[in-house]
Amino acid sequence: MPLLTNISTLYTCAGPGQGDVGAIADGALAWEGATIRWAGALRDLPAEFRAWPREDAAGGMVIPGLVDCHTHLAFGGWRAGDFERRLRGETYLQIAEAGGGITSTVRATRALTEDALAERAAGFLGEMLALGVTTVEAKSGYGLELDAELRTLRAYRRLAEAGPVRIVPTFLGAHTVPPEFRDRREGYLDLVVREMIPAVARERLAVFCDAFVERSAFSVDEARRVFQAATAAGLVPKLHADQITPGGGAELAAEVGAVSADHLECVSEAGITALARAGVVAVSLPIATLYLGQAPQPSRRLIDAGVPVAVATDFNPGSAPSHHLPLALTLACTMQRLSPAEALQGATRIAARALRLDDRIGSLEPGKQADFAVLDAPDVTHWLYQFRPNACVRTVIGGVTRCTRDPSAHSESRP
Ligand SMILES: [Zn+2]
Repeated sequence: MPLLTNISTLYTCAGPGQGDVGAIADGALAWEGATIRWAGALRDLPAEFRAWPREDAAGGMVIPGLVDCHTHLAFGGWRAGDFERRLRGETYLQIAEAGGGITSTVRATRALTEDALAERAAGFLGEMLALGVTTVEAKSGYGLELDAELRTLRAYRRLAEAGPVRIVPTFLGAHTVPPEFRDRREGYLDLVVREMIPAVARERLAVFCDAFVERSAFSVDEARRVFQAATAAGLVPKLHADQITPGGGAELAAEVGAVSADHLECVSEAGITALARAGVVAVSLPIATLYLGQAPQPSRRLIDAGVPVAVATDFNPGSAPSHHLPLALTLACTMQRLSPAEALQGATRIAARALRLDDRIGSLEPGKQADFAVLDAPDVTHWLYQFRPNACVRTVIGGVTRCTRDPSAHSESRP
């Protein structure tokens, strides 16, 4: 039954609005087992908690455990060659013809066993945990054949069981048409709908079903077919929408009752209105925007229209080869004009909502899971302004400390 005190600023992130982070100076946090019992200002601490054994946050700030609600966590190989070709101005097609692109990741992923996929992803998860990340959504989509898709999702199941980071698995069979189906894409969709989705549902290997709705991937009609099958099998839709072109992805997200529409760099006005009406979360992925040199997601227009905006890494070997969620938050401020408080809310409560977990995680309130991070910074503005390799000094999941770092080992944040 610890009581954490000496907190410069405690962010409960319990408010309904994009920027309602509930900042509390000189905060205190009490938890019992895996569950939060109390969060507030130390001066308001109820008598029943005063005798609880105290732990010292050393004047750091405390936030809910970060939720990375969009990653492609398990994959084979890297694509540094693509990075260089893109810098030279080569097109998507030229890169693919040179043996790069998503097809090269599919080849490298298919070559890995479930053990190898899990082991590699576990390494990334350990680094994310050290940054204060406590929940990670993880997509399949580099197998693109039944066995390799199931292998990826089984690797996620194994990581979820091993813990400590919470894993939310998403089936992304409709990521791209694999090379062997290039001339018969209908045949690939048949495979996704008739074999993959039923197999994933039978083993309960995924919570969500994602699809990449883009000119280079799947049309609105093709994705609608995938979502109809997914919904019938008990999977909840989520989609990659309007990233490179405004293709009606946001409108489809609203139509199929998706929990989130992700990317939206090119979302139309009609798409924004549809998302707002349907209560879909917009997930922004500024690391991918940065790497692809695109105009950013119009987050201010989304927020003004009443669409909550989450922020995630999109960690993948092509367009976002970094799993650094705090970097994504700083970029969401500089590129998308989110305030630091809005960005924080986007990687906590709103990100939890994009995973339908906001009743359990994403905010520091009595009854919620005791998932939180202690950061060596006085407040959220300073944290996201002074970008550092890692400001997190302690990560707690379900009331158990899973990672600690010595704050004196890195650069000073205090004035
Ligand atoms: Zn993605």
